[in-house]
Amino acid sequence: MNAFARRAEPNSIAAVIAGARAILGDRLSVNESVRLQHGKGEDSTTPTLPDAVAFVQTTAEVSRLLALCHHHAVPVTPFGAGTSLEGHVNPVRGGISLDLSRMTAILEVNAEDMDCQIEPGVTRQQLNDHLRDQGMFFPVDPGSVCTIGGMCATRASGTNAVRYGTIRENVLGLEVVLADGRVIETGGRVRKAANGYDLTRLFIGSEGTLGVITKIRLRLHGIPEAMSAAVCQFPDLAGAVNTTIATMQSGIPVARIELLDADQMRACMAYSKLEGYRAAPTLFLEFHGTHAAVREQAEAVEAIAADFGGEGFAWATEAEARNRLWKARHDAYWAALALVPGWRGITTDICVPISKLAEAILGAKGDAEARGHTTCIVGHVGDGNFHQVILYDPKVEGALERAWEMDRLIVARGLALGGTCSGEHGVGLGKREFLEHEHGVEALAVMRGIKTQFDPKGILNPGKMFRN
Ligand SMILES: Cc1cc2nc3c(=O)[nH]c(=O)nc-3n(C[C@H](O)[C@H](O)[C@H](O)COP(=O)(O)OP(=O)(O)OC[C@H]3O[C@@H](n4cnc5c(N)ncnc54)[C@H](O)[C@@H]3O)c2cc1C
Repeated sequence: MNAFARRAEPNSIAAVIAGARAILGDRLSVNESVRLQHGKGEDSTTPTLPDAVAFVQTTAEVSRLLALCHHHAVPVTPFGAGTSLEGHVNPVRGGISLDLSRMTAILEVNAEDMDCQIEPGVTRQQLNDHLRDQGMFFPVDPGSVCTIGGMCATRASGTNAVRYGTIRENVLGLEVVLADGRVIETGGRVRKAANGYDLTRLFIGSEGTLGVITKIRLRLHGIPEAMSAAVCQFPDLAGAVNTTIATMQSGIPVARIELLDADQMRACMAYSKLEGYRAAPTLFLEFHGTHAAVREQAEAVEAIAADFGGEGFAWATEAEARNRLWKARHDAYWAALALVPGWRGITTDICVPISKLAEAILGAKGDAEARGHTTCIVGHVGDGNFHQVILYDPKVEGALERAWEMDRLIVARGLALGGTCSGEHGVGLGKREFLEHEHGVEALAVMRGIKTQFDPKGILNPGKMFRN
């Protein structure tokens, strides 16, 4: 069945809207512009409007709403900050968009155990501001201002994942409201447990299709004694990629190693007013540890980079200079979109084994150039993950379809190299077509079985993850 095909009966929708209004009052909105804001994420999909948007504030409200929607078989699409990139939040079958962005309490911080519990609408920026005085930080840092609930639901990561892991490695436990309104807790506060099926990991990356996350227990990390950022530029893309591969294979514990190709660097220099660099393939690096360890790691990478033609290994230890650099890196997507005024972009997200990284990146850039596409590559290359923003002119008929064809070619190359269609952005609508190839028919059937077990009426974010 087409993802957009099945909608709830009009009288069921009316009953849910009346019931939800009784629970939420004016936090239940049927306003056209509010529904439009919840019609899509930061992607190139066409918005599909929910029938109403529910701004929830407590687990009890989520539970009552889900029980109501379950009773009337009305779809519910959880919504965090709406920054996802694959059509995740489009309510393709209408119903309720469940906005969790007002659940922003930091419930507990246990400094001695280095963990905390938060509500799903908290952003990493809010959490880190709260933690700073206590000498701890939460490391998972997507380049967007998104909710940590959304990060759990998409199995997100960021520039620090190479050292501190993705959200998967940093969540200890969850509170989840199931499709019929039951509330369960998964995991706990301990760092390890061998005590049954790992439900926490099942909900991480489930994209709102199995349950609604209402509390999150996170692992925290100590702010390192010393941090140093470095920028190194290369005469060609191969030099930058091969430096990454050799660094990872040497076991140097870099905290961040991010690639920007020449087009992305040009875009970032213009957008973020970065001075003193060339529009050339570039690595942004960061090292964490003691002062001695940081110096040792940086010198080791500098020597590797020199072997591949790297020059200008400029260090920055002051927080202000480092923050400017990483702000520019986090703004890379907006910088790419600003490269050609009026154009838009779609972004790939493949991840390959590190030994195949050069083949994947050089192949992807070569294919794009051969087809006349303007693309910017930016990547969490220490993990073998990169994004290629494929720019297109929305005024030209067929340009978006050509960009999607390019996207498919890049994914096909990644899969052929033993990689995945998504390292961190997730499946949503955009990557559903690759799942069977990646997982096989039987594994996909098991996933469908899990979905049916958790959500027998198919009300939770329907149309996502699976093609039909
Ligand atoms: C400029 C830019 C840079 C980005 N950089 C990165 C990056 O470096 N790394 C990365 O991983 N991603 C990145 N992203 C993608 C995006 O920010 C992440 O996928 C993020 O985790 C989405 O969070 P959100 O709060 O916006 O979720 P939304 O977009 O609102 O929702 C995403 C999915 O999660 C579900 N969901 C949301 N909240 C809940 C909940 N509480 N319970 C159950 N399901 C829920 C939704 O139904 C949907 O399926 C970037 C996006 C942009 C625009």
